[in-house]
Amino acid sequence: MKLEIKNQSLFIEKAYINGQWVDADDSSTLDVLNPVNQEIIGRVPNCGATETNVAINAAAEAQKKWQKSHAKEKASILRDFYNLICSNQDDLARILTYEQGKPLAEAIGEIAYSASFIEWFSEETKRIYGDVIPGHMHDRRTIVIKQPVGVVAAITPWNFPSAMLARKVGPALAAGCSLVCKPAKQTPFSALAFAYLAEEAGLPKGLLNVLTGNAQTIGKALTDSTLVRKLTFTGSTEIGKMLLKECAKTVKRVSMELGGHAPFIVFEDADIEAAIAGAIAAKYRNTGQTCVCANRIYVHQDIYEQFSEGFVKEARKLQTSQGFDPLADQGPLIDEAALAKVEEHVADAKNHGGQVVLGGQPHELGGLFYEPTVIKNANDEMLVSYEETFGPVAPLFSFSTEEEVIERANNTPFGLASYFYTSDLAKSWRVSEQLEYGIVGLNTGIISTEMAPFGGVKESGMGREGSKYGIDDYLEIKYISLAGIEE
Ligand code: NAP
Repeated sequence: MKLEIKNQSLFIEKAYINGQWVDADDSSTLDVLNPVNQEIIGRVPNCGATETNVAINAAAEAQKKWQKSHAKEKASILRDFYNLICSNQDDLARILTYEQGKPLAEAIGEIAYSASFIEWFSEETKRIYGDVIPGHMHDRRTIVIKQPVGVVAAITPWNFPSAMLARKVGPALAAGCSLVCKPAKQTPFSALAFAYLAEEAGLPKGLLNVLTGNAQTIGKALTDSTLVRKLTFTGSTEIGKMLLKECAKTVKRVSMELGGHAPFIVFEDADIEAAIAGAIAAKYRNTGQTCVCANRIYVHQDIYEQFSEGFVKEARKLQTSQGFDPLADQGPLIDEAALAKVEEHVADAKNHGGQVVLGGQPHELGGLFYEPTVIKNANDEMLVSYEETFGPVAPLFSFSTEEEVIERANNTPFGLASYFYTSDLAKSWRVSEQLEYGIVGLNTGIISTEMAPFGGVKESGMGREGSKYGIDDYLEIKYISLAGIEE
């Protein structure tokens, strides 16, 4: 299929290994489908262990030189890469919408977000500072230096196919590492276009490899390899746990950005209009398919009816359509399994006494489209209260006290994003400190920026992406004990 993009070179049906665009050794391919109509957009190589090992060896070789390049050289290439992403923003966004389905405006926003990580880390590469520690003996000083971890394996999901990769590629390259990346099977083209632009920016061959194909065999080759010193993964908690186990065999460094189950709390003293706007943004972005989506909206009982009415009014305005429709606020779900999960969650909520006050069924557009849905009288027995829905379903729970809602908000194995709205300063501090989450959105439903340390606690993962902290995940600390200074 020919995509409607200006720069056709960005649409590549090959894997990228050691600076070469290649097919799988056995020439087998995987189809990539448009979630709007299930048509084949294109095909990518079905790589396996052999291709993975070639990529790992290339990455190891290239990394040796890259770690010796000075900070300004790295910064300059990353800056060029950033500029190229910006100048190709529209095409990259279109590729993203073709394969992922999100509205084009959201895709354009995602590309800007991706670029921001490359820009940020192009700057951070100059700030990998060490320390000098006072001597513990007369003739001693201790010098601390930071060095790249080495070859990094990066496995990314389909919901933000560009941004989730950029959050890893930026800090890894800035730290002096090389990467072997495996994007999700549904959305490989965004990653391949990304690699093309890195090559255009002058990134030396072997530093960034993108393998498409079988997740199990590629994953196993990556985790088994002793050359791969770190795995950074964004995806489900289930696969993350399995990869953690596999990485234990060779004691790899790991960063895990896993599932979430965000509480969104609206206190009785909140600005209700602002809370509604924040909840709509946090719930329905990317058709509810984000790890930081509001999964449980807790509203104080005194304002429950007022909030519900306003929330339904705003959710009703959301337009569901294919992503290239300029009016689209919501696209299709990613695949049949995602649709089945949403249907299961809504049916279960109804069985547990939930009142569907908006949507609650597949959209009349058919296929993978589902109506924006609101469920009142949600309770803690429902699947939606403890499992990620990953769809456009907003369950509204009622609560009566601060203590109660914090306990319910924390009663989950997840700990990625949380949100709350209040106008009380003391409560702002109290609740922020008590929420067991890596991220707290206080009076905001939008929390992502390259300038903040994104990441979770508990079963939502470990490590941080973005900000000055983000580069630490790709650096090892070494100290040099220097003796014989004093006679
Ligand atoms: P997933 O099923 O865990 O897949 C994520 C990636 O892992 C894909 O590239 C997938 O490849 C790969 N994978 C699957 N099985 C594997 C195996 N045995 N070995 C190695 N790799 C394997 O997750 P998803 O459904 O794509 O993504 C949604 C999940 O990601 C949600 O839980 C969401 O909350 C989470 N997420 C978290 C963050 C965060 O920052 N915390 C951000 C975005 C998403 P294939 O596609 O080829 O199977």
